[in-house]
Amino acid sequence: MTFFPPLSAPRPVITVQGPVPYERLGITDAHSHMWIESVPGADPSGPVIDQFDPILKELAEYRAKGGQTVLDCQPEGCGRNGNRLLTLSKDSKVNIIACTGFHRKKYYPQNHWLWGVRAQKVCDFLCSEFEHGLYETLNLSSPVKAGFIKIALESSWADCPQAALEGAAFAAVISKALIEIHTEKGALAEKACVYYTDRGVLPNQLVLCHMDKRPDAGLHKELARLGVLLEYDTFYRPKYNPQTNLWPLIESMVSNGFSDRVALATDMAETELYHYIGGGAGLASLPGEIQNRLNENGFPETACKQMLGGNIARRLAGIN
Ligand SMILES: [Zn+2]
Repeated sequence: MTFFPPLSAPRPVITVQGPVPYERLGITDAHSHMWIESVPGADPSGPVIDQFDPILKELAEYRAKGGQTVLDCQPEGCGRNGNRLLTLSKDSKVNIIACTGFHRKKYYPQNHWLWGVRAQKVCDFLCSEFEHGLYETLNLSSPVKAGFIKIALESSWADCPQAALEGAAFAAVISKALIEIHTEKGALAEKACVYYTDRGVLPNQLVLCHMDKRPDAGLHKELARLGVLLEYDTFYRPKYNPQTNLWPLIESMVSNGFSDRVALATDMAETELYHYIGGGAGLASLPGEIQNRLNENGFPETACKQMLGGNIARRLAGIN
């Protein structure tokens, strides 16, 4: 049961509107959240992003500034709505790539089915969202298909849902899909690389998220050498001091020849980050201010293109 051709040839990227050649993804936000519904029974402090009109404006502005694609990192059961993602994509003409997988436990109702099943059952569910479509869109004549796997680590390995982690590994091996791995401020990144590669997942299938919250340039270079992709997204989160942490980290990675191992993102999981909801920098900051600053800092054009979408596009297509 293989849904994608072998890694040697680029495969189309599966967006909510269907397959798109990876060369056409353009500027791509490697990790964001375009819709999160409230989840009865989940931690009430979890984010809710469900105001359709402002979100559509956000996407339209992103598109107007040159953004073309967004990876949506909210999986089933914790507020995802593939029907909304489909409408937002059609109305804004931005490619949205939806995910299957799982987020942190606190975003689900207690006793959600995912935490009580074996790895094979998790794998079957993830594969079915690739093959048949997202659970909540199965009534559509053309259900929306998942384009990648998202999983979440807690800050200690013992707290991570083991069957779910393993089920994601099985599904990644079968489907060849990319896995975006939420880390708690970069914790357990090394362990996750070993865990997944030991189970047959290729390094170029792994994206370690929020790694700029652990801005250890030496560690980042080691991880980059393994072949995994490092996702950075604290541009507009002052508590992580992006001027002294994130920007020097990008500089270090590019100057050491690792621009092909970095993917930039906005991670808009908080309403305050939305321009049209909370008055924040917004999704359009990626093709706007962030791209401008990369250019002003004198980074080579190729490096900018890689970090602003080229790297994640190639990995979604299954090539390095
Ligand atoms: Zn996120």
